[in-house]
Amino acid sequence: MEPTDSTPATSNISVRRGEPLVVVKNVDKHYGDLHVLKDINAVVNRGEVVVVIGPSGSGKSTLCRAINRLETIDSGVITIDGQPLPAEGKALARLRADVGMVFQAFNLFAHKTVLENVTLGPIKVRGLSRAEAEKKAMALLERVGVANQAKKMPAQLSGGQQQRVAIARALAMEPKLILLDEPTSALDPEMINEVLEVMIDLANDGMTMIVVTHEMGFARKAANRVIFMAEGEIVEGSTPEQFFTNPQSTRAKDFLSKIL
Ligand code: ADP
Ligand code: MG
Repeated sequence: MEPTDSTPATSNISVRRGEPLVVVKNVDKHYGDLHVLKDINAVVNRGEVVVVIGPSGSGKSTLCRAINRLETIDSGVITIDGQPLPAEGKALARLRADVGMVFQAFNLFAHKTVLENVTLGPIKVRGLSRAEAEKKAMALLERVGVANQAKKMPAQLSGGQQQRVAIARALAMEPKLILLDEPTSALDPEMINEVLEVMIDLANDGMTMIVVTHEMGFARKAANRVIFMAEGEIVEGSTPEQFFTNPQSTRAKDFLSKIL
């Protein structure tokens, strides 16, 4: 939002950039006997892009889902914009609207057109008129390069196009933060870059993002920080440059030797 004469300076996003937006404090979670998140502590500042990387099963998705409260936690606190995550009800719905989520498998509504996929949330949750929602949706579809697909059904699109629609759908809610959990892992190789380019564009635009990905090119270009997880713990956190060229822990070294 641009500040106007009547808007206090604190509502200007660029002024608030750098303040903590997501705070994860002493978070633990078990699935039965499996200790899946072990005393997780992390802060994501406004406008920051944090890449979460680590072996399969290390708890990356669980952490993302906990931040959106798709999963409960056993102990600890997660706050977004200073507010602890609400347990249920309207407050939870508001939280979900503020946290955009893009998953590995394209989970667009299969029986709705591309345009409807992007307008549904803004109409239902944000209370926009259909006309307003469509105008905004078309601008977002344009931004991610699929405006000419608006009338089609998701199944008629390529995986890369569907994932770009999923990003447009998340953006349509004007979220404070976007979580992307392996957004390119299910894509054919030739489609990965078109999705990464959209993500880089968002990052450059100042969107706060938590991205689970092993795409080193994205991490180097867009991430402010890389968090490496293994066996439910945050093992190290550093800049992409440091992490990829000089990982500190044995576990990170082992992991990188397998993926690079
Ligand atoms: P990652 O995203 O890093 O691959 P996940 O967060 O998906 O890891 O999973 C962490 C661990 O928790 C894995 O061992 C996984 O099998 C287990 N797990 C994930 N979801 C569930 C669930 N709903 N019930 C039981 N175990 C689960
Ligand atoms: Mg995962």
